[in-house]
Amino acid sequence: MPLKILSSLFFVSTSLLFSLEFDYHLKPKKVTENLYCFFGSLENISKRNGGNMVNSCYVQTKEGFVVIDSGPTFAYASQSYEAMQKIKKLPVKYVINTHIHDDHWLGNSFYKDKGAKLIGPKNYEEEIVPKMQTRMERILGKALFGQTKIVPLDKVVEQNLSLALGGTKFEIRQVEPIAHTKGDLIVYMASQKILFVGDLVFNGRITSLRDGSLLGSLKALEKIDSYDAKVIITGHGYQTDANSTHEFKAYLSGIKREVLKAQESDIGMEKITKVVTMPHFKTLKLYDVLHNRNVLDAYGELELIDDE
Ligand SMILES: [Zn+2]
Repeated sequence: MPLKILSSLFFVSTSLLFSLEFDYHLKPKKVTENLYCFFGSLENISKRNGGNMVNSCYVQTKEGFVVIDSGPTFAYASQSYEAMQKIKKLPVKYVINTHIHDDHWLGNSFYKDKGAKLIGPKNYEEEIVPKMQTRMERILGKALFGQTKIVPLDKVVEQNLSLALGGTKFEIRQVEPIAHTKGDLIVYMASQKILFVGDLVFNGRITSLRDGSLLGSLKALEKIDSYDAKVIITGHGYQTDANSTHEFKAYLSGIKREVLKAQESDIGMEKITKVVTMPHFKTLKLYDVLHNRNVLDAYGELELIDDE
């Protein structure tokens, strides 16, 4: 076959491949002078949103970007990278994963290919890498999951890690052993009082307590508040000011208070979701899907504490 035909065939097949890729329509939002974030929708993972229900941020330094959470797929990471290159042509040097839920780190393989160093919690190595199929792949299916791969981290954070790039300093810290998940990490930029808290805080939607601890989450919130940060970037939700934690704190402390009160009145697990309805939070997204489950998880955890 003549080379010209062969190369045009190659062009057609690769452009077909790219046209099949899910288009996330990503637009970075400038939060501060050197911080851009992609804010995902306040929904569960679906084929319609391609898993884009999570926040992923880029911090610009003189020597390159630091990415906080790499998003749900290879294609998502690749499209957010392209969008950021239009703002500033800089390499991504580090990717920090706040926790092990797959909507936050499945973009890692894209950044690894670009030469970035991957940083994350200890249980990423323990719990994720050996797994064959993630929740994301199961829901999105093979086609949407595309080139997404599970890759190992370059650096694991057990307690603290200080990182500096292009004159910008990052403090990575595990605030509680179990809060939203085991080993959640926060990232603090002291010079600007910017705090990335991952899913230790949600706003605009309901959290899920299934992999964590209500009491651990409340302790983590106290530590987060002690930073007195000016900007707080949550794992899900659009609020980024100093008050970003308020609604979430009210929700979790409300569950704790109401479940304990019900237990004192000998209300059993079979009735607890009828009692602890917390109508004030009904307008939050995913209330119908997640609230009852959270109440049941809280009931189990608080009952154990009570028994001790
Ligand atoms: Zn999470």
